[in-house]
Amino acid sequence: MDYAVARQRMVAEQLVRRGITHQGVLQAMAKVHRHLFVEEAFWGRAYGDYSLPIGERQTISQPFMVARMTELLELEKDQRVLEIGTGSGYQTAILAELGAKVYSIERNRRLALAARRRLESLGYCDTWIRIGDGSMGWKEKAPFDAIIVSAGAPSIPQCLTEQLADNGRLVLPVGQAWNQVLTKGTKRGTTVRWTEFGDCMFVKLIGEHGWGE
Ligand code: SAM
Repeated sequence: MDYAVARQRMVAEQLVRRGITHQGVLQAMAKVHRHLFVEEAFWGRAYGDYSLPIGERQTISQPFMVARMTELLELEKDQRVLEIGTGSGYQTAILAELGAKVYSIERNRRLALAARRRLESLGYCDTWIRIGDGSMGWKEKAPFDAIIVSAGAPSIPQCLTEQLADNGRLVLPVGQAWNQVLTKGTKRGTTVRWTEFGDCMFVKLIGEHGWGE
């Protein structure tokens, strides 16, 4: 399989055609070798229009959703981003390609260690992965210019909006256990303005400000 061709096709057919316009996001998605973030048995499907298993009953998100959420973050180079739900580390790599300094939290130890090893071996130096409950954020490293949550929350954790910098953006799926609405908050002073971007389907955010186990 020619993975470079598969990546170009993914960008053209799944991202551009569905309205992703951010050039940095499109370039990052064309560059990062998504197949290296899943087990070899899935390499042939790594550029398809769906999520895939990554072990521990978790998934790497659908490429379109990764692109959409990243675009909504409106990142500028060297901005500080908190990512909740590292999973395979693919989204982390996309954020790093955009020049962000990425603080990422994963509750599953095995996934966190594998993602850290993978990102190190691929040369991503500006990423820091912590094992823990990301629903409480990462207070010691706040404030963040952007926060992305890659798991579905039952409601918006207030501690996350508190950890946003002024003009900071928070993007997360909010709603029921298996069906949520992609939601974005933009902070101006002490006010956060919320916008919704349609239905989505993520695994559960499990933790203090998420769902129970
Ligand atoms: N963005 C990831 C990628 O590129 O592979 C996929 C993330 S996967 C859809 C959601 C991840 O969130 C899972 O790995 C899960 O273990 C993690 N998770 C769920 N609740 C969490 C929490 N409270 N804190 C940190 N990670 C959490």
